[in-house]
Amino acid sequence: MALRITVIGAGPGGYTAAFEAARRGAEVTLVEVRELGGTCLNRGCIPTKALKSSADALEAVKRAAEFGIAGAGAPAADMPAVLARKAKVVETLQSGLAKACAQRKVKLVEGRARLVSASLVQVASPGGVQELASDRVILATGSSVLRLPSLPCDGKYVLTSDEALALDRVPARLLVVGGGVVGCELAFVFRAFGSQVTVVEGLDRLLPVPSIDQDMSKLLLREAKKRGIKTELCRTVAGVRIEEGRVVADLVPSPFVPEDRLPASAKKPLSLEADCVFSTVGRVPNTEGLGLAEAGVAVDARGWIAVNESLETSLPGVYAIGDVLGPSRIMLAHMAEAEARCAVAACFGEAAEPEYAVCPSGIFTSPEIGCVGLTEEQAKAKGCDCVCPQILFRELGKAHAMGELAGVFKLVADRATGRLLGAHIAGAHATDLIAEAALALHKGCTVQDLAATIHAHPTLAEGMLEAALKF
Ligand code: FAD
Repeated sequence: MALRITVIGAGPGGYTAAFEAARRGAEVTLVEVRELGGTCLNRGCIPTKALKSSADALEAVKRAAEFGIAGAGAPAADMPAVLARKAKVVETLQSGLAKACAQRKVKLVEGRARLVSASLVQVASPGGVQELASDRVILATGSSVLRLPSLPCDGKYVLTSDEALALDRVPARLLVVGGGVVGCELAFVFRAFGSQVTVVEGLDRLLPVPSIDQDMSKLLLREAKKRGIKTELCRTVAGVRIEEGRVVADLVPSPFVPEDRLPASAKKPLSLEADCVFSTVGRVPNTEGLGLAEAGVAVDARGWIAVNESLETSLPGVYAIGDVLGPSRIMLAHMAEAEARCAVAACFGEAAEPEYAVCPSGIFTSPEIGCVGLTEEQAKAKGCDCVCPQILFRELGKAHAMGELAGVFKLVADRATGRLLGAHIAGAHATDLIAEAALALHKGCTVQDLAATIHAHPTLAEGMLEAALKF
């Protein structure tokens, strides 16, 4: 008899697990309470990138004369049309997913799932409660926006990232609270659309995450300034008030930065006015009502599901993948997919561990950032004697042809052996360019291997070659 696998949540983690389990011959049920595609397709990766593509198109048209193109007029963002394009992209991909489920004979069940035991899942829907007997269960319920009491989102003046993606106007003055990946991406998009943008970040740099090299944060800060995006680092928002149709946010020195490291500018209280505020301050696990405690699935101190190296929870036969594992792992769509394949292998009794160390990240700011492996700071903290050759985009012929001069390729390599430890790219198409470094890292390549690889000319990918040759 085929193994019965129930997957809860149809985001990239869940649908990848379902497809992989079906490919291996399991009888698969995929349960989803909202839309197919999860956060990624409906409120994350894809809608943000659709908006970014509109922002890029607007910027390209604004620069038309620089490329010798006349008659571009006065282009502007038509937000209802931008949103309609975004919705069409999402719809197309959603219907593709529905077809893929049907082709692979994955049974889709709509409703809210609750884990009763390792062998039983209950699904509540307007039609009643359905029971799914299962041999294995994979929890892929993802995450939702974190709401701070000091920043109550009202859907009108103070918006979550979900709501920001549906905003049908360009606010004249926009305050983005949180200078992480989501905040920075939205800041650059809305700046391109025409908003005056200020980003407030509690730490001392933009993108203050360990996987982002400090040099990339510095470059992004410079580029933000060039575009007129203001930043208030080392500050947090103590509260907001709505006054005469605008928001007033009270900024205070950040409690996350030690007093002696706070810049003088961040020590003074400051009130900022805006027409709209985006709250992009973090995520919380989607575990409410999932029945974890009753079924015996352990969570960590902050409520994210705890798993072992094979992604099995404290309840044997129940696995968890994706965002619901929290920030101690990697909260990205492609990591959820990689975990999905490992969890399914584990369901079939095979040992497979996700390769977190070689997971690339793409940040869709302007310029983009792509990174994989260790940052210079991480390599040094591990005691590695490393070298970090760099090449600027302006040293590449293709960057000049494209008019994309801002950016850098930075490699982190072991001095003695040349083994690649990490790669960090900021610049046009960095999120695509990082794929070569991810493969090199996955395969344990050296910088000499990169230098010995013929790269097509003229391409931006030559930056990898040139940086490797500098080693
Ligand atoms: P999700 O995609 O969150 O899917 C979980 C699904 O489970 C949801 O559909 C939910 O409705 C469902 N569910 C929850 N509870 C239940 C229940 N009890 N019963 C049934 N169904 C349930 N990542 C990238 O890699 N690249 C990007 O460019 C990128 N951009 C992003 C931009 C934004 C604004 C945001 C918010 C995130 C972005 N991410 C990006 C992160 C990415 O979206 C997530 O890492 C990814 O969606 C996680 O996938 P998942 O399958 O674990 O969970």
